[in-house]
Amino acid sequence: MTKDEMIWDLSHLVESTNLILIQKKLESMVVEAEKIRDRYHDKIESLDAKGVLELLERKDAYTLKFEGVTKYCHLMYSANSTDDTAKQLNDAARRASMRAAQALAFIDIELGKLLTENPSLVTNPVLAQYKYFLERKLRRVPHMLSETEERLAIIKDKNGIGAWQMLQNDWLSTRTFDIEVKGETKTLPYGEIIGFYQSPDRDLRKRANQIVYEGLAKDEIVWASAIRAVCEDHLQMSKLRKYTTPMTQSLVANDVDQQTIDSLMNSINKNVGLYQRYLGLKAKLMNLPKLANYDVVAPLPNAPRMEYTWREARKEAVGAYMEFDREIGRWVEEMFEKRHIDGEVRKGKSSGAFCASWLAGKGAYILQSFNGKMRDVYTQTHELGHAVHAYLGSRAQKPSNYEIGSCIAEIGSIFGELLLTERLLSKAKTKEEKQAILATILDEFGMAVFQVSARVFFEQSMYDAIERGEFLDGETVARLWVAARNKIYGDSVDWLDVMKWEWTMKPHYYMANYRFYNYPYVFAQLFVFALYQLYKEQGKSFVPKLKRLLAAGSSKSPRELGSALGFDITNEKFWEKGMKQARDFVDILEEAL
Ligand SMILES: [Zn+2]
Repeated sequence: MTKDEMIWDLSHLVESTNLILIQKKLESMVVEAEKIRDRYHDKIESLDAKGVLELLERKDAYTLKFEGVTKYCHLMYSANSTDDTAKQLNDAARRASMRAAQALAFIDIELGKLLTENPSLVTNPVLAQYKYFLERKLRRVPHMLSETEERLAIIKDKNGIGAWQMLQNDWLSTRTFDIEVKGETKTLPYGEIIGFYQSPDRDLRKRANQIVYEGLAKDEIVWASAIRAVCEDHLQMSKLRKYTTPMTQSLVANDVDQQTIDSLMNSINKNVGLYQRYLGLKAKLMNLPKLANYDVVAPLPNAPRMEYTWREARKEAVGAYMEFDREIGRWVEEMFEKRHIDGEVRKGKSSGAFCASWLAGKGAYILQSFNGKMRDVYTQTHELGHAVHAYLGSRAQKPSNYEIGSCIAEIGSIFGELLLTERLLSKAKTKEEKQAILATILDEFGMAVFQVSARVFFEQSMYDAIERGEFLDGETVARLWVAARNKIYGDSVDWLDVMKWEWTMKPHYYMANYRFYNYPYVFAQLFVFALYQLYKEQGKSFVPKLKRLLAAGSSKSPRELGSALGFDITNEKFWEKGMKQARDFVDILEEAL
């Protein structure tokens, strides 16, 4: 295998990789935004339906035209943040995007005003393909500020919360940690040392956790300053924008209502016992009286060696999707063939994994740090599910109808993980292999549904603390995290003291304008577990239904997407259906003890 196979080829995103041409293209992105502004500024309020259609189509064409070049710069930087060219391009792209966004900020405001005055435009047949897009716009109007204020907010964010986000990311990706492995001291970046969290060597796992969090704790001032600034900014902005609670903005953005999320979180509170029961079974499988935190997602000690080369991982991922649907399988294959996945581990690379959709190219790019573990195969399959979503969505929808909220964004990816589970289970030869696979999917479920719920409680508690007038220094944030964590885990796990610093490394807490991003993971995981039951019941006739759901992009609400499959997501009963699927897995595991 050549190493190149694991390194993505970003050149498809641009006509030329020549630096000067890229910078020119970024400049023309700003110029064209200004042209749109010259044409439409102060004129939107007098547009009729045809005029609005023309504007939206022009905006969509603009998005597609410059999507590639900005992606090129951002992706290059996330793959190698220490590279000077990447840094320079990323900065140029950020500046250009900011200027373009400023130039176009008037559209939302003027369109909002027009829709408020003339709401019947939403149902005008001329605008049929933008119906739901306009409906959502209308809903956001009461939360918008004046045009000057909106432009100021963009500038403020770039050097405010945007800069805090970058600092957290850069700081984390340039930390190194010294750890002794087999008698040899290694100095490793964050993205690499966390590979040891999955080591079969319990002592190594424990030391890796201890070393990482001891190291991160030293910089508590950096993390606490960043998280505090991001939260306080959000609280103030929420009030200015007349959102009822700090969570409301996220509900509007994700297109869900409070009742649905309350039902979801009630179901979590009722089922913490299910998770704790699984953790008890896992302790048995690990021959431990009780799990420590570094065992929660660790591989089972008697698990057969399940390591994967890049090519073996590819075979499993492609196979899993291919068995579900040939068209989807071929797209997944194409992601590898075109080298749209970056799997190499390197210093300066963003931690974690993500999939960036590329609508203009009707495809996507994936970044991950591939260490050859079964979990990496799951991560890859997960991100490929996002890519499938982009393949379907970009073929069926315009960019305006592909602004997918996080609740729906995770459906393709998690469904893919279940397909992989099924494939691996069917190939498993021994009881131990079966246990290892079930533990992988249940670990994932436990993290996405229960551990993430701890983060929902944690995030809420930070805003409550700020409102009470508390100052969020490192120790205070750590105390809030531990309290939220204990609500989920009870006394089912022993924690190292340094784990109170777990919140420091989570990039999402620091992402600008991305607050309350957590419950959508819980939502998506349980939603998909329920969908999977349906697939088991309906077999192949379910395939086009899932494809329709993914192809809908953001042209329908999650509630509508659910009801098209016969579900009422505002009802707690629906969420219990997802829990039942999880309970089935736990039962199978118990039988396989
Ligand atoms: Zn995902």
